[in-house]
Amino acid sequence: MKAILPAATVGVLGSGQLGRMFAIAARRMGYRVHTLSPDSDTPTGQISDKEYQRPYEDLDAIREFARGVSVVTFEFENVPAGSVEAAAELVPVRPSGAVLHTTQNRLREKTFLSTHGFPVTNFRHVNSPESLRAALEEIGYPAVLKTAGFGYDGKGQVKIDSAEEAGRVADALQGRECVLEAFVDFEREVSVVGARTVAGEFTHYGVIENQHRCHILDLSIAPARVSDSTAREAVEITHAILEALDVVGVMCVEFFLTRDGRLLVNELAPRPHNSGHLTVDACLTSQFEQQLRAVCGLPLGSTEFVRPAAMANLLGDLWQTGEPDWRAALARPNVKLHLYGKSEPRVGRKMGHITALASTAEEAARDALAAREALTRLAADVRGSA
Ligand code: AMP
Repeated sequence: MKAILPAATVGVLGSGQLGRMFAIAARRMGYRVHTLSPDSDTPTGQISDKEYQRPYEDLDAIREFARGVSVVTFEFENVPAGSVEAAAELVPVRPSGAVLHTTQNRLREKTFLSTHGFPVTNFRHVNSPESLRAALEEIGYPAVLKTAGFGYDGKGQVKIDSAEEAGRVADALQGRECVLEAFVDFEREVSVVGARTVAGEFTHYGVIENQHRCHILDLSIAPARVSDSTAREAVEITHAILEALDVVGVMCVEFFLTRDGRLLVNELAPRPHNSGHLTVDACLTSQFEQQLRAVCGLPLGSTEFVRPAAMANLLGDLWQTGEPDWRAALARPNVKLHLYGKSEPRVGRKMGHITALASTAEEAARDALAAREALTRLAADVRGSA
């Protein structure tokens, strides 16, 4: 395969922070970047040479966008299959539309994983009150009901603890395609970010440990506090999934680690992932540069960690008491600040993140959390003295 070399233009479908950090990596290596999404002045658009503000369903726009680039990748997996196909007729799309098709729907993803022998929590297809009742009888309580499509950060999911709750949820189902999963009483959540080239070269960042708050990633630390054998197994599963799906690009595999030491795959993300943001500051090659290298047919870079690291997300909630105190957070010299250029800090919206590097992952976590705390301390002090 002919490599797509610097000075070429790469296209990104989607325009959020993942595309922004990809565009920064691409620009640093001398590539040009075009992005397409329904929005304008986006996190990715601000860094790109060209921003198309068009709906994903607009096939003429997708074709025009594809004609202007040497390869199309994406940062948002809910792009309609027809649009990906239209782009793929003109230019390579990496990862392929088939990978997108499998991973943009929880039912297809879970079915793919279980039929290929990958470990997942027990699940059933549900689309009516009757199928929900039957599935609950098999799976038991507690269980988690998730919409099959368009789910992320816990959106479109509800925990069901009792038959009364099941009744309420059944009324709200309205024929929607869903997956009912057994609730996993996990010890911790971990992820592996892997990258794979057209030729099948594979690399990974080891195991990253993730803590969620209200279903949204809150804190990631690397390396994860897991045994060597668990780490080896998580990487082996990740490698096998990327092979089975023939992924060209970056994919994150999210796992539950159960209290009895088993790994269960929770979710696949066919792109760089929030838990891999710490690779930007902590590794020789970030997950975004790795995505660029993989989709352009270049050799993959070293994933070596310079130091252990932790990443704390900055949600719009932090702005509710006024502009965060950036100077206070940056008073720690081992802390790096990333902001995504979003103008509206809505509650729950990912606005940026903080990464801290230290001699251990625990120390890095403490520093990242303390830096985030410092962002709003001034506001808390003002409130306290009022
Ligand atoms: P998801 O959108 O599927 O990644 O879910 C978001 C978060 O909800 C996960 O990272 C878990 O913290 C929690 N969660 C999702 N599914 C389950 C489950 N079956 N058992 C326990 N917790 C879950």
